[in-house]
Amino acid sequence: MKSLVIAEHDHKALRPATLNAITAATKLGAPISVLVAGFQADGAAQAAAAITGVAEVLHVDDAAYEHFLAENMAPLIAAVAKDFTHVIAPSVSNSKNFMPRVAALLDVAQISDVIAVESADTFVRPIYAGNAIATVQSADAIKVLTVRGTAFNPAPATGGSATITKTAAQPAHASVSFVGQELSQSVRPELTAAKVVVSGGRALGSAENFKTILEPLADKLNAAIGASRAAVDAGYVPNDYQVGQTGKVVAPSLYIAVGISGAIQHLAGMKDSKVIVAINKDPDAPIFQVADYGLVGDLFQIVPELTKAIGD
Ligand SMILES: Cc1cc2nc3c(=O)[nH]c(=O)nc-3n(C[C@H](O)[C@H](O)[C@H](O)COP(=O)(O)OP(=O)(O)OC[C@H]3O[C@@H](n4cnc5c(N)ncnc54)[C@H](O)[C@@H]3O)c2cc1C
Repeated sequence: MKSLVIAEHDHKALRPATLNAITAATKLGAPISVLVAGFQADGAAQAAAAITGVAEVLHVDDAAYEHFLAENMAPLIAAVAKDFTHVIAPSVSNSKNFMPRVAALLDVAQISDVIAVESADTFVRPIYAGNAIATVQSADAIKVLTVRGTAFNPAPATGGSATITKTAAQPAHASVSFVGQELSQSVRPELTAAKVVVSGGRALGSAENFKTILEPLADKLNAAIGASRAAVDAGYVPNDYQVGQTGKVVAPSLYIAVGISGAIQHLAGMKDSKVIVAINKDPDAPIFQVADYGLVGDLFQIVPELTKAIGD
């Protein structure tokens, strides 16, 4: 058995989700290689080599991987995967794009959103938006997995001294090229890695209210800002703020849900948070069923009072 973890990175550094994926890989008990595919990504490769538990880093440096296009990433991963029994990627936007292609190229099934590793061929994953948990056994020769970061502690980022092996790129896909991207800039902690998340729902009513009501509270708590899909669909915040079944899955130490009803699709993305605080004017809102602390009342009154009470 040999495991290959696909590093999530920005070329200069690894993103935290890589460390959680490595912990998932350690549960298999097999030697772990990390694939760093990027462009001028020496920084990320060196960071991967320093992680405790990593035996080898395969570093593929080519402009074809600068933007992690699925059309270029998938053939590379599929080619490298032939020497491995398990291919593991963190469950993030990039891997949701390329891992199904990897599974298709290898002619195996993908097992998505793994939350526990039972054995080399048996994995646990949520289904029906987290309302049921399935234990899945795979007979495929190569298991292609995406793993939920919230279910595995990060591996220590230092302490390792893996070898870095330069590996050849695959030919770039001729008919696909990168045109552009619009990334939202934020000085706040990254949503999936933040210890505190303050999320707003439809009740905020406007982008302006996210700024004037939620941001001061998030500033005080050094929190990331999240949102329900209703708030995203209404254009109050960008869609990478969305928490839930079709958004991001978070499990911070503290999740504050403001004016969010608690639909199952939202709960699927946050119910594993350690402490949940809900602020809602409807005492029967479903969010209170998962909340550790509930404040029933008008958010436009409660949130500024709470922000003031926290102090500097
Ligand atoms: C396939 C599918 C996937 C989906 N994926 C997601 C997902 O990933 N994430 C997600 O969030 N949703 C998702 N949804 C949508 C989900 O079903 C809900 O529609 C959505 O979460 C509702 O958002 P909300 O709670 O902000 O709005 P609402 O349900 O409208 O709730 C607003 C809440 O605010 C309260 N409120 C109103 N005014 C105030 C006030 N002044 N003070 C305090 N409280 C107030 C109300 O009592 C209410 O509970 C998905 C739906 C489908 C069908």
